[in-house]
Amino acid sequence: MSDVRVRFAPSPTGYFHIGGARTALFNWLYAKHTGGTFVLRIEDSDTERNTKESLNSLLSNLRWMGLDWDEGPEVGGSYGPYFQSERGDVYQKHLQRLRDEGKVYEKDGALWLKVSGETQTIDDIIHGPVQRLEEKDFVIYRSNGTPVFHFVNVVDDMEMKITHVIRGEDHLSNTSKHLELYQALGAPAPKFAHIPLILKADGPGKMSKRDRGSLVEEYRDKFFLPSALINYLSLLGWSPKDDRELMSLDEIIAAFDLVGINKTHARFDEKKLAFMNAEHLKQLPKEEFFKRGVEVLRKTEHADWLKDEAYLKKIFDIVQEKLRSFEELPNFVAYFFDENYPFEPTALQKILKHQPKERLPELQIALSSLPTFDCEIVENALKTLSAEKNLPAGAYIHTLRFAVSGRNVGPSLYHLLDVLGKDEVLRRIQRCLETCSFA
Ligand code: GLU
Repeated sequence: MSDVRVRFAPSPTGYFHIGGARTALFNWLYAKHTGGTFVLRIEDSDTERNTKESLNSLLSNLRWMGLDWDEGPEVGGSYGPYFQSERGDVYQKHLQRLRDEGKVYEKDGALWLKVSGETQTIDDIIHGPVQRLEEKDFVIYRSNGTPVFHFVNVVDDMEMKITHVIRGEDHLSNTSKHLELYQALGAPAPKFAHIPLILKADGPGKMSKRDRGSLVEEYRDKFFLPSALINYLSLLGWSPKDDRELMSLDEIIAAFDLVGINKTHARFDEKKLAFMNAEHLKQLPKEEFFKRGVEVLRKTEHADWLKDEAYLKKIFDIVQEKLRSFEELPNFVAYFFDENYPFEPTALQKILKHQPKERLPELQIALSSLPTFDCEIVENALKTLSAEKNLPAGAYIHTLRFAVSGRNVGPSLYHLLDVLGKDEVLRRIQRCLETCSFA
């Protein structure tokens, strides 16, 4: 363990969004990279704005992303986060000390910190030294007795021995107040890394919780891979300074460092995230793909498709390279399980030029005479057939795909035929002939 200690300190006031997830991730990555400690601290001292849903969303999405924290009060054999709402005594102790030392005074029922009058230099790893003068005294406890964010934030960072404060750039303007507080408390300030903002996909301004695609929940509901979201978020403001974009978690951890973070704001790009998800999906180990695929089918109420595990495994093996997201999975594999799969009209239009009315009976004859039925044998049979009839192989390939699946996209045709098996393929061709009008 190194002595690096970082924290993610969200206020539970809304759903967990991309910006918060990116801040959490950068802290977590830095802890992993340095062998340090990642602390989760819920900044819930402003009780009026906190909600239970928000806290639940935060915790469950952090867990879903795999951003586990390393310490905290023990709950049921694991660590809970720290809650500021449970640390009133700690803040009171430090407040009392500041009052005893004459650094705090009361005015209009509130408690104010006397500023030093000195220019503060923020030692920021990303922005370099930033100088600011805090001209006016400021409130640290409201007249209703609740502490103000600046005070509890600094007391906790001090008490929790945080070495690096990694947070959104919108907090840079608060940092001179925080330095005043460290000075008053007689504690050294941590290093700061104020990370660039995430701008909306279209138009100016920071991405807000109301923008489409801004909630972590949305990706989870669409069965995105956490590894893809992590890969994408890691590049919002950071880069490994080489050409790499698609990276595994281990590669990101190995390369991640605070000096690699840019000052320029990052722009959110949903398409790129979707692309990364598709790439991560392709790279998933087979067993992991199977496990997640089963989960998706269960959650989308297709548990009846899970009965024949061997069949399911074969299907998953051939669809993995073509699938762009798990969200598409049920629709992508539906015809494997439904013998009355629909024949898509637009797909039908595309194969009419091959004269399916003639091609399908020719295929029936060629395929039914095969003594064995695997990818290679079927491929050869189709080649022979197209040579015999002096037609391009595509005429048979596209027609056959349509007949057995009702579509013109899907996994590799020969593998698809192999998984369905000879009898089923012949049944499907027959059904196509009987159902579709090729006029
Ligand atoms: N509770 C603050 C926020 O959510 C924490 C800021 C910080 O990381 O210091 O913005």
